[in-house]
Amino acid sequence: MKSTRRTETLAALGGERVIAEGAIRPWPPVGALDRKMVLSSLEGGQHTYGPNCTALEKEFSAWSGIQHSLFCNSGTAALHMALVACECGAGDEVIAPAYTWPSSATCCLHHNIIPVFVDIEWTTMNVDTDRIEAAITPRTRAIIVVHLHGLMVNMKEIMAIARKHRLKVIEDCCQAHGARFQGRMAGSFGDCAAFSTNQNKVMCSGEGGFFCSNDDKMFERGKTLWYFGENRPPDTAAGYHAYGMGWMYRSSDLVAAFARAQLTRLDANLARIQTNAARLTDCLADVPHLILPTTPKDHHHNFYNYTVRFDMEAMNHVRDARTFRDKIVASLRAEGVDTGIWQGWPVPEMTACQAKDAYGRGCPWSCRHAGRVDYSLDQYPVARRHCDWHTGMTTPLRPPNGTGTVELLGKAFRKVMTRIDQVEKVTL
Ligand SMILES: *Cc1c(COP(=O)(O)O)cnc(C)c1O
Repeated sequence: MKSTRRTETLAALGGERVIAEGAIRPWPPVGALDRKMVLSSLEGGQHTYGPNCTALEKEFSAWSGIQHSLFCNSGTAALHMALVACECGAGDEVIAPAYTWPSSATCCLHHNIIPVFVDIEWTTMNVDTDRIEAAITPRTRAIIVVHLHGLMVNMKEIMAIARKHRLKVIEDCCQAHGARFQGRMAGSFGDCAAFSTNQNKVMCSGEGGFFCSNDDKMFERGKTLWYFGENRPPDTAAGYHAYGMGWMYRSSDLVAAFARAQLTRLDANLARIQTNAARLTDCLADVPHLILPTTPKDHHHNFYNYTVRFDMEAMNHVRDARTFRDKIVASLRAEGVDTGIWQGWPVPEMTACQAKDAYGRGCPWSCRHAGRVDYSLDQYPVARRHCDWHTGMTTPLRPPNGTGTVELLGKAFRKVMTRIDQVEKVTL
């Protein structure tokens, strides 16, 4: 009798948790090949940009089908290089989604470019393509599309808008390795693409990224930013001369060795995530008050992040959605579910944008080349609702976790969502 009560009480209120401590295994799995390759780089002579970096670039291009790849130290660096490759600069405007990782848009600020935000679409959580044209001005040079959570934006619609208005297209593929639209890989539609290999991504090397393009000239132009503005590959003798603006976006050979080892397992890892996501959707299908992620026709979702929204209307919590969502998430976490809010604010709501001040003195918005932009929040109602209603999961769906772990997630969600009366009593 007592034990029944304990399993019926939410763990957040003192009951027994569904998922035992340590049952969800960490990402990424590291094996013999990772150790061998990193050690061999360590024992080799070149620890800066070296032979593993050049080999990795070739291997990544072969994997993605994009002709040129440059290994750099972050996805953000890759986005910045992509903007330069597309000849965006002071006073130009670039369109970005209102809901994304901040650097999908703050990369613009690095080059005195003004981001202009477009609200997202509720179902896909991606930019609302129907709203892009209204955001275009004579200053607009490019669109940054973000394939959020591993679901691609409808690239047919994006490319049509870009052609009509003569805009460049940059694909932020930091979450989209292996995602496809109409059978084509993420990163292969636009002028340039950026991938990240940081700890959280489906391909991990600790930190890192790829700047990619099929266009020779654009690739070379983006590369000028790569280190110090020297505009020359490090394996040629020329030098120590800044031809223009340059950052330090190189990565190291040890990191590339780790990335190469992980790349050999990327397809197998992605396949496992697919299986896990499909199983989780089955397990959650009849759990009350959940809005599950969907994959529209023509899309292949990589399920980088399995994002669930809570139906606050059905639960009568629209007015205090954020607080009530936090109570549900606290309850899930107490049951052992590794879940959390991925981004709690639309990017235009973040301080730098609201204050319109990145470098001090209001720059770059106060620059005489810049036009006026409006970041009033009533323009992003869908992004704001999403921010308050969602929670996401990454690690529990990734290897070495399998369907057994996923079934436990399903059990924990069912326990919490069928005991909303108890959730009401949880204190934050
Ligand atoms: C992770 C991420 C980035 C940035 O990648 P870093 O390697 O962390 O700089 C950019 N955009 C999106 C959508 C991301 O998820």
